Amino acid sequence: MNRYVIVVHTKMLSKEKIEYFKKKLEEEKMRLEKELEKVARRNPNVPGDWEMVPEDLNIETADKSELSDVFEDIGTRAVIEDKIEERLTFVNQALGRVQKGTYGICLVCHKPIQEKRLEANPSARHCIKHAVWQ
Ligand SMILES: [Zn+2]
Repeated sequence: MNRYVIVVHTKMLSKEKIEYFKKKLEEEKMRLEKELEKVARRNPNVPGDWEMVPEDLNIETADKSELSDVFEDIGTRAVIEDKIEERLTFVNQALGRVQKGTYGICLVCHKPIQEKRLEANPSARHCIKHAVWQ
């Protein structure tokens, strides 16, 4: 009598799937960069870094309350910029893994990341088990 051991594992991504996710990542990258351009500009000294552009800040004529509004706005935009920049970093890292051929592999256990998870977040770096690491 033969006994079979059924190994349940997540399949490695096919080439086509990787291409599909790569496209998604590139689209997201473009979208995020567009978003960033609204609140920041590329730092000419540090490639890949963005700095915030304060909107025409005219301190001479602005009265005090206007000024505090402006600074509040800068604070909000800085938060937005940080968030977009962080996501952009994840997307760029994922694209780097596509190039290295390690896309879709959990950084902790080196097992394939569930496709459903990548579908929801193409820049996911960890499998569901290790999702807490992200
Ligand atoms: Zn894992």
